[in-house]
Amino acid sequence: MEISLEEAIKLIRSYTRPLAPVRLPLFGTLGCITAEEIVARMDQPPFPRSPYDGYALRAQDSLNASREAPVTLSVTGRSYAGIPSEVALGAGEAVRIMTGGVIPEGADCVIAQEQTDEGVLQVRIYKKLRPFENYCRQGEDFHCGVRLATCGIPVTAAVLGVASSTGCTELSVFPKPRVALISTGDELQTLGQPLGKGQIYSSNDPHLLGRMAELRIPVTENTNVRDEMDELTRAIEKASSNSDLIISTGGVSVGQRDLVPAALEKLGAEIVFHGVAIKPGMPAEFAVLHGKPVLALSGNPFASAVTFELLVRPALATLASDLRIDARIVKATLTDSFSLKCPVTRFQRGILKNGTVSIPGEQGNGQLKTMIGCNCLVAIPSSPESLPAGTFVDAYLLEGGIYGI
Ligand code: AMP
Ligand code: MG
Repeated sequence: MEISLEEAIKLIRSYTRPLAPVRLPLFGTLGCITAEEIVARMDQPPFPRSPYDGYALRAQDSLNASREAPVTLSVTGRSYAGIPSEVALGAGEAVRIMTGGVIPEGADCVIAQEQTDEGVLQVRIYKKLRPFENYCRQGEDFHCGVRLATCGIPVTAAVLGVASSTGCTELSVFPKPRVALISTGDELQTLGQPLGKGQIYSSNDPHLLGRMAELRIPVTENTNVRDEMDELTRAIEKASSNSDLIISTGGVSVGQRDLVPAALEKLGAEIVFHGVAIKPGMPAEFAVLHGKPVLALSGNPFASAVTFELLVRPALATLASDLRIDARIVKATLTDSFSLKCPVTRFQRGILKNGTVSIPGEQGNGQLKTMIGCNCLVAIPSSPESLPAGTFVDAYLLEGGIYGI
């Protein structure tokens, strides 16, 4: 007996354990979720610095300066970015300074060189400055001890930049789940090889690999296996040893060569459910093997695409502690009426635009072609009557997940 989609998702979430945090080199954490706060270890910038190419001076010395009546100061040193001046600055003195240079002790402002005659030993100042004018204070960006990022936020490029600026080289994050993908079927031929009679090229693994790449989920293994019990059990057993989640496609229904359920039982997996009241994808099975979740999906190309979005994404989101990977559902209205009745929720591929969704033809389980150009899956609720145009439905976005549509 099939269980409802809601029940299936609830079970997937409760049987899937979030992966424990790991410490990784900073750059390897991009796209993960932080498992610790990032706290500033120092002031940034660590010293007062110049925002301009010009001269550091004391504002007091520029009191009456103007273009008509410049003030002349002696240039006593140089401070370039990374090459600070060794001398402190006294009254009537200036230090030649470049952007990013340390403002020397004794100086309290910087004049841009355009406001001077750019003199070498002496410089004429054409403008009066206020104390701390053009002066980037130490800790202008942040002070030591300040919390820069909270636990539980996505590591973005900005997080990498800020963490680096405070000298952070490693970060504790919730890692991305590693997925093993197994496509089953005697009829599957490897791409590049000629097709024998009755053979087809596998479209499921390229499609699902593509989806996982779009969602930034690493895949550690991708194998095609024949409908042979030994081969299947070996492949599943091996997959469980180097992945956090196993996805299989094909061989999960009630046909004579549908061996995945028996293989999982033979391996001693805990079978959580087998059969979900949706179309397509009804035979989907969920099991736990050696603590690893296994999602066995129907091999029909559209069925595997639908169940990936509905069932695999919640499992990945739970493993990664990352809600962005979860299915994203928006409400939309049907552009046209929908007359195909179904005793269970039926998923159709659709084109969502400005809150309305249209459903192209050729939606068979084995037909993948019209997926191209579609940007959502539309949940058509079971209904004894056809649905009129304007009916509100759920649209599951087929977006690039973490990195937006
Ligand atoms: P199954 O779920 O194994 O009963 O397969 C259902 C249908 O999907 C059959 O027509 C299979 O040939 C097809 N199929 C199974 N696996 C794949 C795959 N990896 N790529 C494309 N079609 C597949
Ligand atoms: Mg098969």
